[in-house]
Amino acid sequence: GARPSTIPWRRYAMSDVLLELKDVRQTYGDGEGAVHVLNGADLTVNRGEIVALIAPSGAGKSTLLHICGLLERPTAGDVDIDGERTAKLADRQRTLLRRHLIGYVYQFHHLLPEFSALENVTMPQLIAGESQREGDQRSKALLDAMGIGHRTTHRPAELSGGEQQRVAIARAAANRPSLILADEPTGNLDPATSDTVFSALAELIRQQNAGCIIATHNHDLARKADRIVTIVEGRIQPATL
Ligand code: ADP
Repeated sequence: GARPSTIPWRRYAMSDVLLELKDVRQTYGDGEGAVHVLNGADLTVNRGEIVALIAPSGAGKSTLLHICGLLERPTAGDVDIDGERTAKLADRQRTLLRRHLIGYVYQFHHLLPEFSALENVTMPQLIAGESQREGDQRSKALLDAMGIGHRTTHRPAELSGGEQQRVAIARAAANRPSLILADEPTGNLDPATSDTVFSALAELIRQQNAGCIIATHNHDLARKADRIVTIVEGRIQPATL
């Protein structure tokens, strides 16, 4: 399904494939000290799909998410996002794509401490050119959808860990991203709260027909994803739990 895009140089999203990694390699260092973290990684994420990424610490999960999120350039390989080949784009274009197409959720929320929940969710929309009124309206709707509509005026420090993460998810979804990348979003939460936060995230993905990669150590959550993958020797492989 094509949909209007707010990115100046693209009028419509092109495909149902939101993310396609082809033969992605990432090497840190050189010579004898070189570490080949990704070594021919292939991955496809479709619209509406939630992919869980489980792998031991150090396997390259964060590296993979950073590359998918255009926060890092791979040593080699293609990273296509919503039909856009990103490898050769200039930094400015990558920043625009990131702003409009990608939402990122970190293990620690990284909310701005001096701003309210609502302001934290509105801010990325203002940066993307949305009006204050429209932005606030959408933020309220998102916080409502996340079950924290009664917490909009609270600052992060006045919220529980689970509430903070739900604000962080609302913020990641603020600009209607096609792709949401979540790096251990429930890593510091108790099991019941993890469950609530994951359900809220999943609901949002389905509603917006976005796609999602969620890196997690939590096998119960991973089982709720549409698909589970892991990283073995720098390549992506299907996994079962
Ligand atoms: P995970 O998220 O699965 O724990 P990471 O992607 O953080 O794994 O790291 C994978 C490997 O790459 C680790 O051995 C780590 O030390 C190394 N690494 C990650 N980023 C860098 C970097 N910027 N420079 C050098 N080595 C790095």
